[in-house]
Amino acid sequence: MADSWAEIAVNLARVREEIRTAALRAGRRPEEITLVAVSKTVPPEGIQAALAAGVTDLGENRVQELLAKQPELPPGLRWHLIGTLQTNKVKYIIDRIHLLHSLDRWELAREISKRASARGLVLKALIQVNVSGEETKHGLAPGDVPVFYREVQELPGLQIEGLMTMAPFVADAEQARPYFRQLRELARELGLKHLSMGMSNDYQVAIEEGATLVRIGSDIFGARR
Ligand SMILES: *Cc1c(COP(=O)(O)O)cnc(C)c1O
Repeated sequence: MADSWAEIAVNLARVREEIRTAALRAGRRPEEITLVAVSKTVPPEGIQAALAAGVTDLGENRVQELLAKQPELPPGLRWHLIGTLQTNKVKYIIDRIHLLHSLDRWELAREISKRASARGLVLKALIQVNVSGEETKHGLAPGDVPVFYREVQELPGLQIEGLMTMAPFVADAEQARPYFRQLRELARELGLKHLSMGMSNDYQVAIEEGATLVRIGSDIFGARR
């Protein structure tokens, strides 16, 4: 964790500059890329420092933590749920989040559809894809995504905006490039606009490969304890 919350503004300035230069290298407009500041384990004072430095989008990976923090922070922020969502927790977050990054199974899609429709809402979501095939990672196998997408598209109350992946943890971010490229290709085939890919260790490469949302935690808030 950052030793002083003042470091957060400095870190953010550096991350934004990296995002900008990665975008320009790839011939993209920096404004196409949304920085999701991953605030898991960061207390509200730390998040306040990020908000003061202009952060508008926060990412949390646990429902309980997101629900506990939300009332402590100003309204109008965009909250992203980036971690696995248990089906029995859908009811708590259905009207609390801007985007779900981790739609990974039919049962979850059906529960979202049921809860959202009952309240006249539409939840925006990304399908999580396990491009690396690592057993420890969540997400659908790439080959299963087209049929899954076609089926969940029919559900009311749920709107699929794109795909999300976590690349394998590699020593050199370059090694993550093929996974990002594969996700972009899949999104292109399906006509999907958003790509949530890239974390502290690999977001520059992810942006070069088309990321529209990057999820960055430790590069902003410091290493998690
Ligand atoms: C924690 C987390 C991140 C951010 O990781 P950093 O390496 O701290 O940038 C991004 N995505 C998901 C799904 C996470 O759980």
